[in-house]
Formats: sequence, C-alpha cells, structure tokens
Amino acid sequence: MRIYKEFYFEAAHVLPSAPDGHPNSRVHGHSFRVRVSIDGAPNPETGLVIHFEDVSKAISEAREALDHRFLNDIEGLELPTLERITMWLWDRLHNRLPGLAEVAVSRDSCQEGCIYHGPHPLAAE
Ligand SMILES: [Zn+2]
Repeated sequence: MRIYKEFYFEAAHVLPSAPDGHPNSRVHGHSFRVRVSIDGAPNPETGLVIHFEDVSKAISEAREALDHRFLNDIEGLELPTLERITMWLWDRLHNRLPGLAEVAVSRDSCQEGCIYHGPHPLAAE
C-alpha cells in the first residue's frame, strides 16, 4: 500500500546551464508541487501506514528551507533543476520517513515534473 502527502512551495531560480537568451537563463519563479509517497502495510491497531502528522513534521522543515527562497543560494541546489530539487528532498526525507518510496516534484505552470525513487541500487555511493 502507498500513501502520499502533497505540499507546495514558491521559489525563484535561474538555470546556469540554459543557453544565453533562453528564458530559463533569467531569474524567474514557479509554484512547485511536491508529492511524498510512503510504502507500508497498515498497522493492525491504528489502521495507518504512518500518521500523516508525522509526514507533515518531516516535510515542514524541508518546505521551510525552500519556500520563498532563491534556490540557487541553497547548498546542494546550485543547479536547481527539477531533478536536483527532487534528489535534494529525498536526501532530507529518507532518514525521517521509513518506507519513503517516491518523491515527485512538478511545476503546475509548465506541466512538467520529475519522479525519484532514490539512488539506483547499482549506482556508486
Ligand atoms: Zn524555472
């Protein structure tokens, strides 16, 4: 079974890898939507995979670090692509959320997103 919690954050960034003159080479902002998914079996006593309050607590710190920020200034997000944002969130959440299965980040304005299931098992440490 998989449960999920969604949250939004607003942030600005610039993509240093964008070609000169491309809109992404200029500072701009997005509303980012994040979905955090957790796999598990419901506890027989509570009927819950995990208390959603526990998910919210884990998320709130990461959200606070991103919301209304210039993402390029955040350590680890100097190249703030969807892919890097998704990995950054995974790194901050996986120790706090046992069963973390997926982090998905999308930009509603662009109909674009990225889904991350954690480091590939064959990837070097
Ligand atoms: Zn952008």
